[in-house]
This record gives sequence, C-alpha cells and structure tokens, in this order.
Amino acid sequence: MTQTESSPDALPDIAANLAAVKRTIADAAREAGRDPASVTLVAVAKTHGAARAEAALLAGHRVFGENRVQEAQAKWPALRARCPDLELHLIGALQSNKAAEAVALFDVIESLDRPKLAGALAREMERQGRRPACLVQVNTGEEPQKAGIAPPEVDAFIDHCRDDLGLPVTGVMCIPPADEEPAPHFALLREIARRNGLAVVSMGMSGDYETAVHLGATHVRVGTAIFGERPRPR
Ligand SMILES: *Cc1c(COP(=O)(O)O)cnc(C)c1O
Repeated sequence: MTQTESSPDALPDIAANLAAVKRTIADAAREAGRDPASVTLVAVAKTHGAARAEAALLAGHRVFGENRVQEAQAKWPALRARCPDLELHLIGALQSNKAAEAVALFDVIESLDRPKLAGALAREMERQGRRPACLVQVNTGEEPQKAGIAPPEVDAFIDHCRDDLGLPVTGVMCIPPADEEPAPHFALLREIARRNGLAVVSMGMSGDYETAVHLGATHVRVGTAIFGERPRPR
C-alpha cells in the first residue's frame, strides 16, 4: 500500500456513489432543459489509491481526473493497459518542465493557464505527435493566489493558443473562489466559452456541481462525493 492510499476498511460504496452523482447530474440537466448525455462526469481520483479508481472502472466509469502528473503516472498506466478506453484529465497545475509527461499521459489537459505552458505544450505535441485536448483555465474571481487567465485577457489568450500555437483548445475551466457563490462564476465561464466558440465548459465540484449543470457545464469534476474524503488536504 502506498502512503497516499486510504485505509481499505473505510472503502466507500463507489458504485453507489457514482450512480447517485450521475442521477443528480441527469436530474439537474433535465431541470435546465438539457440532455443529460451532454454532461460528462470527471471522477477526481487524486490522493486515492488505485483500488478506488479500479472500483469506479469496475462500475463502468471511464472518465477520470488527477491533479498531479507524478501521481497519475504511478496510478494510471497499469489501469489503462487493462482498460484502454478510459479518458484521463489533468485538472491541476502543470509545470512547463513536465509538459512532455503530461502530453504522453493525459487525454485532456484542463489547466492551460499561462503563455509559457502553452508554448511548452505546443512543442511537445509537435514532437510526440500526440494532441490531448486543452482547456484554458480562467481565474474568474481574479484571485491573486490562484492559477488561470484573468477574464479580461482570456479571449486574446485563447486566440494565441489556437491561432499562433495551433493548440487543440476545446474549452474552458474554472475553480470559483471558495468563499463566494459559485453561480456568477459559472455564468461568466459559460459566456466566455460561448463568445469564443468553445464547446467544453468544465465547472462544478462535489459541493456545487448541480448548480454548474444548471448553468451549462459540459464537464463536472467530482471527487469527494464519489471516492470519500481525501486522506490529506491537498
Ligand atoms: C480536487 C478537485 C476537484 C474535486 O473536488 P471535490 O470537492 O472533492 O469534488 C475538482 N476540480 C479540481 C481542479 C480539483 O483540484
């Protein structure tokens, strides 16, 4: 057992949790007049050991999120060998010097948050011939300590990534300020996607994914409600 693996006696019923979250998503989508199939659940497995990810795979789930390259490298290649159709999203900060590993491992990089990283990803995609979809992370609350492009700069950044660098930018993602109502941030992110012609809107976590679906999320990133409390704060 690795250090970050949770104690097996506390193993939550992951299949039941997944079913409940998917039901909530479907209900919220219908309430908003949306097709439930237009919302993808990204199951955030960070800090949990491979056993929990495996339980979700056995329950039929295929789309997962991790926030650290190294942790994902340790956990996912073995699972992917057995389950080639799974889709892995990077949802955490990416250092430019880890761009090669990220391009090799992930199918979607949700944390494209600065020009230097955009350049590094473009060079790696060219070198590897592998093109994971990229989401531009938007700092909707303009919080100084938080990663992401500020809303006034985001249209130009998206243009730069798509037109100058040829990156496969498919959408946007945000993490609203912890101490604010998330709804205005979700509405803003959706509007940024709309005006830039981007299909993917990644927003909503365990505490607010229902609201995010009401406001147009195409992807919600849910960890705790599926896998239980994380062993350590991250
Ligand atoms: C951890 C994390 C999540 C999932 O958070 P929960 O509250 O456990 O659902 C979603 N998005 C990002 C970027 C995260 O880091």
